[in-house]
Amino acid sequence: MNNRKIVITIDGYSSSGKSTLAKAISKKLQYNYVDSGAMYRSVTLFAIRKKVFNSDLWNVQNFTSLLKEINLKFKWNKKYNRTDIFLNKENIQSKIRSEKVATKVSLIAQLPEVRKKLTLIQRNIGKNRGIVIDGRDAGNYVFPKSELKIFMKGSIEIRTYRRYQDLKKRGYEVSYEEVKKNLIYRDIMDTSRNISPLKKPVDSIEIDNTFLSIEEQLNFIFQLINKRKK
Ligand code: C5P
Repeated sequence: MNNRKIVITIDGYSSSGKSTLAKAISKKLQYNYVDSGAMYRSVTLFAIRKKVFNSDLWNVQNFTSLLKEINLKFKWNKKYNRTDIFLNKENIQSKIRSEKVATKVSLIAQLPEVRKKLTLIQRNIGKNRGIVIDGRDAGNYVFPKSELKIFMKGSIEIRTYRRYQDLKKRGYEVSYEEVKKNLIYRDIMDTSRNISPLKKPVDSIEIDNTFLSIEEQLNFIFQLINKRKK
């Protein structure tokens, strides 16, 4: 593989396996991995802690004035061999997967001020290329000129099953139906919002992984990467 550094974007539906592929690619190419969903989840955790959702009419303006208090950083965690996200120096990696965060994140993700702030951070991390980023608007909006754009989908049952297993493994008490409901809800919210909705980039390669193993997906992607790096 030659050494030209490229930007790889992986967008797609909730729990479609984006991060599994992104992590494997970043490891193999020694690229930075940007989990943009983790960033939106972190802002949501911050909002929950600020009790933004405690009244029926949550005050968007009040919340956006607090955004300047948020400092997000990714750091490599040697012990667990993964990238962790830090909110104002606190490692919140294990706190952002809760159902509480999952049920509110799509509301936070539709705020233009939030998207603006997080897009800036993502572009900054990618300014020297050599990154793989997963999310919803990475190929269409954050890095529209990226060399390789992947779009992931899979049946709702397989996506629910994977997320359910993952949450159980991490010790969360959830039901299969709850997880399924949340994925459907987020897909609707993420595809129908006004700003940077989830949409397959026209110049992307689609992978439906309902019946594909991780190895099969990675083999396919590395063939694409080899072509793009030439
Ligand atoms: O990828 P993950 O499932 O962790 O993303 C959580 C949520 O963050 C999504 O459902 C979406 O509302 C929001 N998000 C987004 N744009 C991104 C990444 C995530 O709006 N680039």
